[in-house]
Amino acid sequence: MAFFDKINDFAKTATEKTNNVIETTKLSAKIESEQRGINALVQKIGEYYVAKIDAGETLDEEVMAIFEGILNGRKNIEEMRAEIEAIKAPKEEVPAAEKEVSSNMKLCVSCGKEISADAKFCLNCGAQQP
Ligand SMILES: [Zn+2]
Repeated sequence: MAFFDKINDFAKTATEKTNNVIETTKLSAKIESEQRGINALVQKIGEYYVAKIDAGETLDEEVMAIFEGILNGRKNIEEMRAEIEAIKAPKEEVPAAEKEVSSNMKLCVSCGKEISADAKFCLNCGAQQP
């Protein structure tokens, strides 16, 4: 029966190995979850002190040096938000009357785009021209 005992041992060992992998994977996932929890709490501590500095408190030098980075980041965000606003803001339309029109061109009576002086219809909006 030695042969079957060996087979049995082998199967047992394989099962144990599989169980070990499952167990360590589970534990690793739990460790990661705990670490995420710790990171969130560390961030909370940071926010607590940032709020204090924002309220006018001065903390030790090292903390204040790190805070400089936060101030710098805030400034950059502000500038980029302003850039977004500038991009989003509608371009100021130059009034048709102020546009310089070359002699062989005219402005469409409907949309104000510059079109050929002898055009019967606007190429931009299709409006009939006088
Ligand atoms: Zn037009």
